[in-house]
Amino acid sequence: MDSPCSRSSVIIIGAGVSGISAAKTLAENGIEDIVILEASDRIGGRVRNEKFGGVSVELGAGWIAGVGGKESNPVWELAAKSGLRTCFSDYSNARYNIYDRSGKIFPSGVAADSYKKAVDSAIAKLKNLEVDNSKVGEVMKAATEPPSSPKTPIELAIDFILHDFEMAEVEPISTYVDFGEREFLVADERGYVCLLYKMAEEFLCSSGGKILDSRLQLNKVVRELQHSRNGVTVKTEDGCVYEANYVILSVSVGVLQSDLISFEPPLPRWKTEAIEKCDVMVYTKIFLKFPHKFWPSGPEKEFFIYAHERRGYYTFWQHMDNAYPGSNILVVTLTNGESQRVEAQSDEETMKEAMEVLRDMFGPNIPTATDILVPRWWNNRFQRGSYSNYPIISNNQVVSSIRAPVGRIFFTGEHTSEKFNGYVHGGYLAGIDTGKVVVEKVMKEKERNSESQNFLLEPLLALTGSLTLTHTEAVSGLQKCDIPTQLYLSGKLGIPEAIL
Ligand SMILES: Cc1cc2nc3c(=O)[nH]c(=O)nc-3n(C[C@H](O)[C@H](O)[C@H](O)COP(=O)(O)OP(=O)(O)OC[C@H]3O[C@@H](n4cnc5c(N)ncnc54)[C@H](O)[C@@H]3O)c2cc1C
Repeated sequence: MDSPCSRSSVIIIGAGVSGISAAKTLAENGIEDIVILEASDRIGGRVRNEKFGGVSVELGAGWIAGVGGKESNPVWELAAKSGLRTCFSDYSNARYNIYDRSGKIFPSGVAADSYKKAVDSAIAKLKNLEVDNSKVGEVMKAATEPPSSPKTPIELAIDFILHDFEMAEVEPISTYVDFGEREFLVADERGYVCLLYKMAEEFLCSSGGKILDSRLQLNKVVRELQHSRNGVTVKTEDGCVYEANYVILSVSVGVLQSDLISFEPPLPRWKTEAIEKCDVMVYTKIFLKFPHKFWPSGPEKEFFIYAHERRGYYTFWQHMDNAYPGSNILVVTLTNGESQRVEAQSDEETMKEAMEVLRDMFGPNIPTATDILVPRWWNNRFQRGSYSNYPIISNNQVVSSIRAPVGRIFFTGEHTSEKFNGYVHGGYLAGIDTGKVVVEKVMKEKERNSESQNFLLEPLLALTGSLTLTHTEAVSGLQKCDIPTQLYLSGKLGIPEAIL
């Protein structure tokens, strides 16, 4: 049975980086009566580590992307404050470590040519898209040559790493433009998530690294939001009911596209259409532990590529020797359709496929992996994918609509960041921005309430003959005036609930 749990100023749904940074912004601005409802049993969301093969591996965000530029990446600053252990990732050599199915590495000239061809083709595609986008009815500009699509295994492999893994060389990415092009892999036993704990500890009570504050409620799966002009009622799967003046909803765009949370009244059409327009990328890092190393090591060998006729088939590999020397762990990255296919099969089948690929590259005598870890971001009903991916030539209107509030419900999360969607810093900055907007709303509402209180109190002060009445005295004075309590409580006299 539904039971009312509490009423607060703001409920934050989701304790990923955006939810935590939004809550911290509220707390720092004096709004402390907040509740954070998190569906899972931990904070962090898509920032998540697990012990695997004796070390901590990052199942979700792994890199701090955008370092060394004109502006400082705020997540890099948090990392520096926490002394987070990281390793520089140099992808530049990956294109020279492309294996064919017989285990031969493509000569560097062939690899460089294919890479250039793929970049040129991606740029041409981009230009054609721009042309398509600009033909508003009448004049159509002359389209450039249609780009040839990748066909050979090496072309397919390069196309995959350019489009599904990085796009830096094709389109200016705000993260690299603003914060720099360097990327650092988090290799810290405490996990990337320790940055979020550190943030949370600054405004939530904690002891011995555990958050003990009752304002953070874990295992609370929000299923329904009823919203009106007066506030929002939030219902969770376990039958609890929470009330608040405002809600900050930080769940992923994949969750918004699913039916996990219903809205009463339903979200307007402009909102649901924008949510549907945003693509969700599935990105899966599969970890494999081996009894010993059989791959070439060294920093310039950290990333290597497998060229297969099937695009994205166990294409992008990384050894973890730089991050954790002696760990004997390899990581292979799959995306979208391949991720979904692998999520649906058993880990044994995935291990078999990965081993066949590795034996193609390194020969039949390599040892079989002793352990495998396959995260399932697509099938996780609290994620439904890895991150948002707006169409390359996307209309900023889509992001603005996704971010725009609906009544008292405010939307945040990486997918609401116009410049940095898909990144941890995107989520972090979006949370701060949304937090600030809600702080302003709460403050304005408080001001309005106190103005109407004063308006109400003036005749009361005259009535009691005292100029030093406190609010409590005034309220008891109110009751002495024989105003029916029922009317007063129901706010029908226009007395704001805040003074109750
Ligand atoms: C595999 C992978 C690799 C990535 N790699 C990188 C990288 O290298 N670098 C980088 O910067 N970024 C990377 N990202 C992206 C980055 O992790 C995200 O952009 C960021 O963590 C998103 O934070 P968020 O707060 O917006 O969302 P989330 O972290 O998803 O937080 C939302 C929270 O809401 C909770 N929730 C969902 N539904 C409900 C509900 N009904 N009720 C209550 N709570 C609910 C979820 O459990 C979650 O904790 C990666 C992501 C993935 C998955």
